[in-house]
Parts: sequence; C-alpha cells; structure tokens
Amino acid sequence: MTDSASRLTEPVSPLTDTFGRRHTYLRIALTERCNLRCTYCMPAGGVDLLPRHHQLTFEEIIRLSGLFARLGVTKIRLTGGEPLVRKDVPALAAALSRLPGVETLAMTTNGLLLDRHLDTLHAAGLRLLNISLDTLQADRFQAITRRPGLEKVIRNVDLTLGAGFDAVKLNCVVMRGVNDDELADFARFGAERDIEVRFIEYMPFGGNGWDHDAFVPYKDMLSTLQSAFPAMHPLNDGPHETAKTWCIPGFRGRLGFITSMSEPFCGGCNRIRLMTDGNLKVCLFGRGETSLRDAMRAGATDDELSILIDLAVTGKKAAHAGMTALATQDDRPMIRIGG
Ligand code: SF4
Repeated sequence: MTDSASRLTEPVSPLTDTFGRRHTYLRIALTERCNLRCTYCMPAGGVDLLPRHHQLTFEEIIRLSGLFARLGVTKIRLTGGEPLVRKDVPALAAALSRLPGVETLAMTTNGLLLDRHLDTLHAAGLRLLNISLDTLQADRFQAITRRPGLEKVIRNVDLTLGAGFDAVKLNCVVMRGVNDDELADFARFGAERDIEVRFIEYMPFGGNGWDHDAFVPYKDMLSTLQSAFPAMHPLNDGPHETAKTWCIPGFRGRLGFITSMSEPFCGGCNRIRLMTDGNLKVCLFGRGETSLRDAMRAGATDDELSILIDLAVTGKKAAHAGMTALATQDDRPMIRIGG
C-alpha cells in the first residue's frame, strides 16, 4: 500500500491507486438516453434527462480520452444509456480508436440498433461487443425492458457474430422469480454460437427496487447449471477479468459469471468511469465523483486535469461496501452511471 506521502518520493505510475491497482480501462457513458426501460437500470418513474449542454461534447470526450490514454488507459468501453442512440457514435468511435495508446475499443449495447451500425463500428475500429439480453421469452422481454424487441435483438446478435468482431458477449442480469429459470436455455443459446453468455448478479442501484429476495448468488446459478450440464468445467481467467468463465464440452460458446455482490473482484480492479455529465467515478459503487467537465470548462490545463484524476484515483477504496450496505446506499440509478 502506498500512501500519498510516499507517492511524492517513489514514482508511481499514473492511474495507480494506493493499493497498487493500475487503471487501464476507461468506461465512458455517452448518453443517459435509452430506447428501453429495463427495470434494474431505469427507475419506474424514469429519470430527468440531463440538459444537452450539461453533457460532454464530442470534443470534450476526445480530449479527456486522449489524456487518459497518455496516463495509461489502453481499453475504452462505450456505454450509456444506449450508446447507439447518440448520432455521432461512429465518428466518435473512429476518433477514439485513433488515439495513441488506445489498443482496444469496446461497446455495451442493448442490440436493438446494431444492424444499422455494425459495418461503421467495425470500420471505426471497435472490436468487442457486449449485448444486454435478460430473457429469451418475448413476454418477459416486454416485462423487463418495458418495450418489445426480443426478436430484433436476437437477430442482431447473430448478425454481429458474423461481422468479424474479436468477441461478442451476452450480458444477462439474473433476478429470482424473473428469469432465473432460463439459465440452461441461455447456456444452450451458446451451444452453436461462438459467444460468451455472462450471468450478472443483480446489483443495487438508485431506484431499481433491489431486494435480497430477488438476488441469485453465483453459487446458486452454478449449481443449477451443473445439474443441467454436469460436464461443465471452469476456464482460466486473466487477473483483471471480471467474469468467472466456464465451458460446456461440445458447446461453441462459453459461460461467464459476474459475481460483484457474492464474490467481489475488487482486488484486481482496473476500471474507472467517465459519465455523461463529465463526472469521474473511480468505483462503480463509490460515492465520490470529480467533475472533469466543470474543470475543463473553467479552463483547466491537461496537467491540472491530471492532478484531479490522480487525486480521485488515490482516494479509491480497496473494495465496495458490501451488498447489504450498498442496498441502502443512496446512489445514482444505473442509467446515469453506464454500468
Ligand atoms: S466495485 Fe468498484 S472496486 Fe470493485 S470491481 Fe467494481 S469498480 Fe472495481
């Protein structure tokens, strides 16, 4: 552990917190707008949308991303809301992938608009796509997202699999009594598809009505799937990998589990988040935020912004506060964080 005093004497790589975690992965929420209304993300009453002039502009996103890349960020993920509702995404993706130091450009999308952008996103250098899909049943899709669209998303998943991206993953938030009986169906969805189906533990965010009864821990998901697929076995995961991955012999796809509540993986965290309003959040569940937008608009130089970023990263806690504490913590709804 390096405290701020020793940071002055021992050169510490930028974007490294006091636990020695180097943050090389920036998630940028491009918009708070979305064409779906998922129950675990968007509060029932919706959210007051950020006025456009409060949102980071194209130029501000590029400037900040360039700075983060100079500080050591090598991977950028575009999130939202739904990033593809933002009209300038292809141009933004192209500009981001040209930034020196950026090795990987990724996106998390609900897949509804993917067919319109696949070629331009690929041409722009985007290589990793995560598609959110929480059910394979049309009526449940409507119930969870408050909109129709299941067939379109599945069609776009298959289009994406054939479009030459390095990896395509499916993100499925598992909720008891909502979709926890579809785990085996989702696993079979990957039988003939080269896709990683990731089961995400349900997380508490502002206004999403999270309660412990609806929470399905990793070990329960795993035992359900092991009963259906006894030969399934774990794969070796990288140090910063958020998912615990498993494979079912004979299946083209893999399974992944995001266990941030029951088995947090904060020790290897390399992620920081830039939100639509320009606030920097160094932890998904951290309360502290730093407005890089206001500093930029007040004329801050890149060196001054770097100091703000360093202070934020230095203040990052070792881990999140734990599921029960998070459930009572007043925080942003997920739609305003970008996951
Ligand atoms: S909860 Fe915070 S520290 Fe833990 S893995 Fe997520 S972002 Fe990193």
